[in-house]
Amino acid sequence: MPRPHTLKIAETFASFQGEGGRQGEPTIFVRLAGCNLACRFCDTKSARQGGRPIPVRGIVGRVERLKSRFPAEWVCLTGGEPMLQEIGPLVSALKTAGFRVQIETNGTIFRPVAADRITLSPKPPGYAFHPDFRRRAAEVKLVVSRELTLGALSRIRKKIPAPRPVFLQPESNAVWSRAKAVRLAGAAVRRGLKNVRLSLQLHKVYGFR
Ligand code: SF4
Repeated sequence: MPRPHTLKIAETFASFQGEGGRQGEPTIFVRLAGCNLACRFCDTKSARQGGRPIPVRGIVGRVERLKSRFPAEWVCLTGGEPMLQEIGPLVSALKTAGFRVQIETNGTIFRPVAADRITLSPKPPGYAFHPDFRRRAAEVKLVVSRELTLGALSRIRKKIPAPRPVFLQPESNAVWSRAKAVRLAGAAVRRGLKNVRLSLQLHKVYGFR
């Protein structure tokens, strides 16, 4: 008998989406373990290693149990880097179970999965991402780190044109990063870059996960 397809999972939990254009919406999170990058500002370091291998059916079961207590329509696959693992069967199984699926990715690995929404979050120093995300990304989320420059923001805006939003997300909501985000957003307007928006990590403001 073939072995069931498993994925390494760091955690599953129900909360509200704290980032990007779906901010504030009830969401069940599946955090996949492992990442191919090692960003200095990573706030999910514990998910970069380890994780527990769980069959796809078991992951969907966990999500459905969370939904019975917190009836969210959306599931967000996050990480770590979800595209590092073969998530296609999980996306299909979640959609068959009636969920809408969002994927948050650093964009370095592309898999042609049938997600409803892809949030692209390219990372320094190069902010490189697979060209297929030019078409597939619904939005861009940029951590306003020490490394982020107006030049990098302009190049990303050019590759993923408006009206798709680019969210400037202050690093850990820190004061210095919020000030830098305001400066960058102002410079972006003056340079004629469309739909570059200020944001915050809402879950950190409210104190939920
Ligand atoms: S890509 Fe995301 S999960 Fe990976 S190291 Fe960077 S911030 Fe952390």
